[in-house]
Amino acid sequence: AKTRQRLVIGNWKMNGSLAANEVLLKGIRDGVENTGAHNHCIIAVCPSFPYLAQVSQVLAGSSVSWGAQDVSWQESGAFTGEVSASMLNDFNCAWALVGHSERRALHGETSEQVALKAQAALAHNITPVVCVGETLQDREQEKTLAVIQAQLAPVLALGEQAVNKMVIAYEPVWAIGTGLTASPEQAQEVHAYIRAQLNAIGAGNVQVLYGGSVKAANAASLFAMADIDGALVGGAALVAEEFLNIATA
Ligand code: PEP
Repeated sequence: AKTRQRLVIGNWKMNGSLAANEVLLKGIRDGVENTGAHNHCIIAVCPSFPYLAQVSQVLAGSSVSWGAQDVSWQESGAFTGEVSASMLNDFNCAWALVGHSERRALHGETSEQVALKAQAALAHNITPVVCVGETLQDREQEKTLAVIQAQLAPVLALGEQAVNKMVIAYEPVWAIGTGLTASPEQAQEVHAYIRAQLNAIGAGNVQVLYGGSVKAANAASLFAMADIDGALVGGAALVAEEFLNIATA
């Protein structure tokens, strides 16, 4: 049996409003208490930055934690539009996604920058959730593991101590928001590879999440895999009942 604690994180992406968040957050918060989902896994949500104050108020004292979708690698200063880890700390963020494929693809983030972001989060006691994943073209060209290795390399170079405080999320780009989920076996193959990379630096017990069109109907078969420790959930995290059903799967 796996000893690593299961973790289910909702990535709301650029969705929500004060009114819609209120309903969703209360649905998740109350649903978690009613179902006892927090006894099975750690549950977290990642809203857009302006809503962190709202989320921290609605979820205060609950067993649901929260995080940000990105973080700057700088401490402070002339970085217009960026948000620092110490600012996230002001809102009690427990988590920060770093290197989401949408950031890599649409904002040109490099794996070196992603590693710096992970380091900045750790410096403020925020757990970075480092996202990696191949495109469809990478997979068709049988470059999946090479791409994952290259994306992980600067992160693993931060060393055992740092990496042991992180979470890794494997998110095949072709499965994100497409309704195409990697089969449990396809996902496990990459998770086992990531686990081996982690093991090689003494960080074999780091949680490795799967992301990419996870829903209640496919979560249990993914979670049954030896090296899948939970999920990073996009679309399905915007519906309280569906998100809770993933957490209890
Ligand atoms: C994500 O954006 O991290 C994600 C996995 O999205 P979806 O679940 O919608 O595919």
